[in-house]
Amino acid sequence: MNDLLLQTDKITKTYRNGKKEKHVLNGVDLTVHAGRLYAIEGESGSGKSTLLSILAGLQKPDSGSVSYWKNGEMVELTSLHENELAVLRRGDIAYIPQTCDMVSDLTVMDNIRLVDYFTEKKGDTEHLSDIMNRLGIAQLADAYPADLSGGELRRLVIARALYGNPKVILADEPTNDLDVHNKKEILDVFSDIIQNGVAMIIVTHDQTVAEKADQRFRLVDGRLSFGDRR
Ligand code: ADP
Ligand code: MG
Repeated sequence: MNDLLLQTDKITKTYRNGKKEKHVLNGVDLTVHAGRLYAIEGESGSGKSTLLSILAGLQKPDSGSVSYWKNGEMVELTSLHENELAVLRRGDIAYIPQTCDMVSDLTVMDNIRLVDYFTEKKGDTEHLSDIMNRLGIAQLADAYPADLSGGELRRLVIARALYGNPKVILADEPTNDLDVHNKKEILDVFSDIIQNGVAMIIVTHDQTVAEKADQRFRLVDGRLSFGDRR
């Protein structure tokens, strides 16, 4: 299938603290296609954030592979160097962490275009203002993160993720702490993005989010089991 973007094969991950071992992932298989929304649910501590960070190339699995198709060509994430992974994260694979860490002495606008400081290729201002408008934070361009509400911060984190025109977005509980209104706005933005061909994987406890997914999974005993399929 030519819309294949991401595929994992039997990922395992064990955390070790001294003699203590915690087997978090025990063979995770996941196939991700363009233009689809995937929801991953599971108990707290079941390994959802660990899985997302491995998909983002932020940490390596102990065994198994993560393949990404960049312009139709397969790239093996687990064999890339840190600088190559960083390049992928700036463009192709966007990771939206559970917490909204921002650079506190940069404005909203500069936080979004932070990635420009690391690359030769500068993003265009039209794209930047389009994203800020879409997320309803254009009027906050010159404000600082500390001045934003929880909902505004969430939108800022999402704007930063969208700025690199990612093909895959990995979002860790992106609607936590949001009121109904903010949640709806963010979910509408996500729907638009997905319709434009982006694949999105959302870790969530939120049933209204999970119900929107094309495919639902549950992480149990370190493996993904199928949930409802739309
Ligand atoms: P979830 O996101 O589903 O709540 P996590 O992936 O954050 O789960 O964590 C899964 C398990 O691994 C938890 O028991 C957690 O305490 C443990 N864990 C997570 N990160 C680390 C780490 N860096 N070192 C040791 N244990 C960790
Ligand atoms: Mg988590």
